[in-house]
Amino acid sequence: KKQEWAKLKDESTITAEGEHVELAANIGTPEDVDGVLNHGGEGVGLYRTEFLYMGKNQLPTEEEQYDAYSSVLKQMGNKPVVVRTLDIGGDKELDYLELPKEMNPFLGYRAIRLCLERDDIFRVQLRALLRASIHGNLKIMFPMIATLEEFRQAKSILDEEKDKLVQEGQDVSDQIEVGMMVEIPATAVIARQFAKEVDFFSIGTNDLIQYTMAADRMNERVSYLYQPYNPAILNLINNVIEAAHAEGKWAGMCGEMAGDEIAIPLLLSLGLDEFSMSATSILPARTQIKSLSKQELASYKDEILSMGTTEEVVAFIKEKANLI
Ligand code: PEP
Ligand code: MG
Repeated sequence: KKQEWAKLKDESTITAEGEHVELAANIGTPEDVDGVLNHGGEGVGLYRTEFLYMGKNQLPTEEEQYDAYSSVLKQMGNKPVVVRTLDIGGDKELDYLELPKEMNPFLGYRAIRLCLERDDIFRVQLRALLRASIHGNLKIMFPMIATLEEFRQAKSILDEEKDKLVQEGQDVSDQIEVGMMVEIPATAVIARQFAKEVDFFSIGTNDLIQYTMAADRMNERVSYLYQPYNPAILNLINNVIEAAHAEGKWAGMCGEMAGDEIAIPLLLSLGLDEFSMSATSILPARTQIKSLSKQELASYKDEILSMGTTEEVVAFIKEKANLI
């Protein structure tokens, strides 16, 4: 099997009928890029920038961030790199920010909520990203967006920093796509309205599932409710993909679900454009996708979306995608 995968390392990812889908990787540091390229990644679909801020006692400087972002972009050449802005707070603490303890950290003051209030922190990261943009194919993504106002506000801060840099005579790419994570159900429900204003969506199923099912992603007692293939989740995902396509935008996924062998045929059926996963999942996923007909899977879409239970979905897709 390993040999079969290795042969596909330098090939692009195509379905049985020859349609391309993009397989990208999730990374946390510039050191992870080697692994992405060695496993045949076509891009970075999620660069979690939290690690730059963690395990130290002060905020990273603009220069430190510029170096990290530039390094990833240069190593990836012209392949796309989606950098997610700071997703801290909640369970991921930064001692030096001295955030108050909360009853429900996952529903609390984190990510874009914190960045919009502490725009001093946010602006430093955006400047570093904008300056690094000339070194590759950068896309910027905002985490934990709940409302259209939040997206607009984040985008306008980005535009302000870009204008300032240009005024200062700095080079900034004018090709940077700006998108958002869909990990709060509210945004999946009205994805159509968001799709008019974003350049892309990336579905964060790790959080989207816990918020939709009201089941903490870390709590063993309720893990039976953490159901990626639940029709409620699939209908939300479908809503996001349809909304993106109606506006000529692309929709990806960077939650764990994107690399899962049962989820992959379901997501192909729904028309997902980009799958971002851990680097080691890329070649197995490429091998699987090669054997699947997207057209055939798409013909099951309405039937899948109208199913009532996870169990039904799993039994159906296992049979259709030869997973039995
Ligand atoms: C997600 O929520 O699916 C996601 C990719 O983000 P994280 O796992 O970092 O919360
Ligand atoms: Mg998340």
